[in-house]
Amino acid sequence: MAPDTSRRKPQEITRENIGQFMEQFDTIISDCDGVLWMPLPIPNTREALAKLREAGKKVLFVTNNALVEPDFKFKTFGYPLGKDEVTYPPHAIQKYLQKIGFNKKVFVIGSTHYRDYLQKHGMEIVPATRTGGLVEENLKVMLGELDEDLEIGAVIIEADINVNYMDITKAVNHLRRPDCLFLAGATDTLLPTFDNGKVLIGPGYFIRAIEDMSGRKAHVFGKPGPAMVTDYLKEIHGVDLQRAVFVGDSLDSDMGIANACGMKKLLVLTGLTQFKDLDTCKPELIPDFYIKSFGDFAELLTQK
Ligand SMILES: [Mg+2]
Repeated sequence: MAPDTSRRKPQEITRENIGQFMEQFDTIISDCDGVLWMPLPIPNTREALAKLREAGKKVLFVTNNALVEPDFKFKTFGYPLGKDEVTYPPHAIQKYLQKIGFNKKVFVIGSTHYRDYLQKHGMEIVPATRTGGLVEENLKVMLGELDEDLEIGAVIIEADINVNYMDITKAVNHLRRPDCLFLAGATDTLLPTFDNGKVLIGPGYFIRAIEDMSGRKAHVFGKPGPAMVTDYLKEIHGVDLQRAVFVGDSLDSDMGIANACGMKKLLVLTGLTQFKDLDTCKPELIPDFYIKSFGDFAELLTQK
């Protein structure tokens, strides 16, 4: 099949146009996995960050990974990071619940870190099934586990490697009440492990399943939803999104959040996406710019 020549083509960032690129933006908001590390640091990315900051750019970060503190890998790999410069879905969810004056209990399918974070911020978390051990395979006992709890005002679904049948069944039952909020963090379906092609199942499939089973639609706070940028980074750092570019390796999540926030898009080719994927992706996900590696900024921003 002949290539579709009508598709928009992204501009490669080169030594010739780097000056023009830099003039367009005050803020760079970047994804982490696949841009800075993969899973180990990608060459020259630390230097690239230093060069962008030296040039007066604000560099902020967004990650969908809520299994650990968002600054965990920055500390592990020694990437300098200022206060509140990285965000992840729990920030946006907690801010949202605070904003709407939420004061009920939350049923959370999510990591231990996730539940601890919400608890630390004053949320009352309903214990998941696993903390109570196995459920007896007996209908009466199972139905007893599903007794309505009117104190629960929200269900949050995130990555949870211990998720089980009863947790999902409870979530679906809580969501039968229209006043119970349905919130989700990351919606990734498969997570690359960079280990011999192995994959992990992301929370996306569970969210889809619970949407199907409950007939409800989750309010998404992870990428590609805009909240981490619009309700967190933008508010804290006063970002002008017209003069900000989003950098990422994923078309759906990263180019998607850029669209949702009205930001320009820069794709890197060190992670999930290959250049040929741009021939077949949804046209709105085609980036404005691409660069082989974020680390290339180190060289491009060095005066010759
Ligand atoms: Mg990524």
